[in-house]
Amino acid sequence: MHFRAARSFWPESSLLAANRSLPAQPSGDSYESRRKALAAYLANRKLDAALIAFGPNLRYLTGFTGDNGVLLAGSGYAVFFTDPRFRLQAAQEVDCRTKIAKGPLLPDVVAEVRRQRIRRLGFEPARTPYATYEFLKSHLPLKVSLEGLPGWLEERRMVKSADEIARVRQAVNTNSKAFQQGIQRVRAGVREQDLAAELEYRMRRLGAEKAAFETIVAGGERSALPHARPTKAALANHSLVVIDMGAFVDGYASDMTRMLHVGRPSERVRRLYRAVLEAQLAAITAARAGVTAAHVDAAARRVLRAEKLDHAFVHSTGHGLGLEIHEPPRLGKKVSTRLEPGMTVTIEPGVYLEGFGGIRIEDTVLITRTGCEVLTPTSKELIVI
Ligand code: ZN
Ligand code: ZN
Repeated sequence: MHFRAARSFWPESSLLAANRSLPAQPSGDSYESRRKALAAYLANRKLDAALIAFGPNLRYLTGFTGDNGVLLAGSGYAVFFTDPRFRLQAAQEVDCRTKIAKGPLLPDVVAEVRRQRIRRLGFEPARTPYATYEFLKSHLPLKVSLEGLPGWLEERRMVKSADEIARVRQAVNTNSKAFQQGIQRVRAGVREQDLAAELEYRMRRLGAEKAAFETIVAGGERSALPHARPTKAALANHSLVVIDMGAFVDGYASDMTRMLHVGRPSERVRRLYRAVLEAQLAAITAARAGVTAAHVDAAARRVLRAEKLDHAFVHSTGHGLGLEIHEPPRLGKKVSTRLEPGMTVTIEPGVYLEGFGGIRIEDTVLITRTGCEVLTPTSKELIVI
């Protein structure tokens, strides 16, 4: 295997400088302090309590990593409901009062709402199944009103604490290590799905809980599908290969895309690659606390427009990631969210040409006061095999 002549885009000194500008650590970040912040928000909206059942939000507020739980939280109290399968796990993970339901959780939740004399109950409108909403509507006393809490938790989760940043960093490093190991024996003839399986196996061997999403390995013309599924097709000579992978470590996600080329790349491939790389670097340069998400997106798009490739850039420049692989903020056109220190986002412009192939380069970065720190340590050179 041969890595193309290296031109270092990230000299040590600039990484060190970025490290020094890490955001101040939010003091006292704990599940309890997060629930306190939720209680303050509820009080502000004149709500008595909130019902949280969406996994990542539940984990954010209680530490619970199982897959059946509900949190009822208000000012001064929090009750976590789960079923007997998770009794032991909840005892180890959850730091608030826990109730083990004998059957479905909702009847017990309704009983607790009555006991606490809750009148205005917040819920997650985008995360609540219709059946749950209907059950609550028909079983809660008439005087209890259900009020949507649109996106408040997701918005709060955008800015990571020092502990969360450390976990994202770990996920990124695990991912990069697995990539480095996994591509060692790649050559023409290897099947896409075998390479994807190898990369996922490596991630798990290195400590990942699981892949953050279905690993993408797509060769030749199929690299033009931004979200291609690996197939039985073998990597062919003289073709591009896109690898997009991520790991969940300690609940937090990483995301990285790198390109391989089987055989010597043509002038056209090299030109396209250079354009995408320049767009990616422009977006990284633009990313810093205080600018809008759209500003970062525009920086990447401007470079591709100058190369007459903007029509081939069919998605946003990036997305937040943390407890979910895709979470706010989206770095896209017209997104007015202002970046803040402590946000972890991807920067991943790409061009996709039908019948030819696609190129995307993606890093996970940490927004700082003065810029951003590229967490992904993997070289951004086109890897020629
Ligand atoms: Zn990705
Ligand atoms: Zn991504």
